[in-house]
Amino acid sequence: MSKLQFHQFSCREDNYGVLVYDRESGKCISIDAPDEGAVLAALAETGWQLSHIFVTHWHFDHVEGIAGLKDKFNCHIVGPKQEVGKISGLDETLGDGDEFKFGNDTVRVIATPGHTLGMINFYFVENDTVFTGDTLFALGCGRLFEGDGAMMWESMRKLAELPRETVVYCGHEYTLANGQFAMSIDPDNEKLQARMKLIADLRKKGKPTLPTTIGEELDTNPFMRPDDSTIRENLGMVGASDEAVFTEIRTRKDNA
Ligand code: ZN
Ligand code: FE
Repeated sequence: MSKLQFHQFSCREDNYGVLVYDRESGKCISIDAPDEGAVLAALAETGWQLSHIFVTHWHFDHVEGIAGLKDKFNCHIVGPKQEVGKISGLDETLGDGDEFKFGNDTVRVIATPGHTLGMINFYFVENDTVFTGDTLFALGCGRLFEGDGAMMWESMRKLAELPRETVVYCGHEYTLANGQFAMSIDPDNEKLQARMKLIADLRKKGKPTLPTTIGEELDTNPFMRPDDSTIRENLGMVGASDEAVFTEIRTRKDNA
């Protein structure tokens, strides 16, 4: 394996782009293409040469830059098999469990339907880093535009199985609002309270709250904690299934 370098930058309203660079092979991935200009600026800043785009899902704020970047770099574009009709310019399509090499590193595809039906996440196995698109956010999860609660809960469970140390990059800076909601149903969680202080401080300074880790999310993100007895009590759902509790949390967040 080689130690990959990650460069995160904000763009659009509240999106994040990330470049992934492999010094050994000289290859560089843009995770999604939220904004051509912002990706170009990040490339100029790092001096890296774009060779790939890995697309998580078809939404406009994740694919808008693809055509322009393809024009300039003739990069190889990889994306979800199940959204092939919705994303133009894909050179290669992937589905759940597919594994391939990027330089010397293994990339495993994890399908995480819910926000969209075809959403895929990219897990860099040796570097223990996952790109969750709009599935898992810091202290939150994506809205259920295409799937339902059962589907999204299954997707969250898959991510929860990754090692706690796994570094998580996601598509948006929604952490503060997510955290305020999290506090409304899990107010006595001390790890959440401590994290909220950190987050408020970072945002005050205009700094990103990402990346996060799977362990941090397991400890503080209510969407990963439907089995927690205090959350269940607070929701009046002590005997319900994890899936039902998850779905209730998602519904409350939608209406918050
Ligand atoms: Zn989206
Ligand atoms: Fe998005």
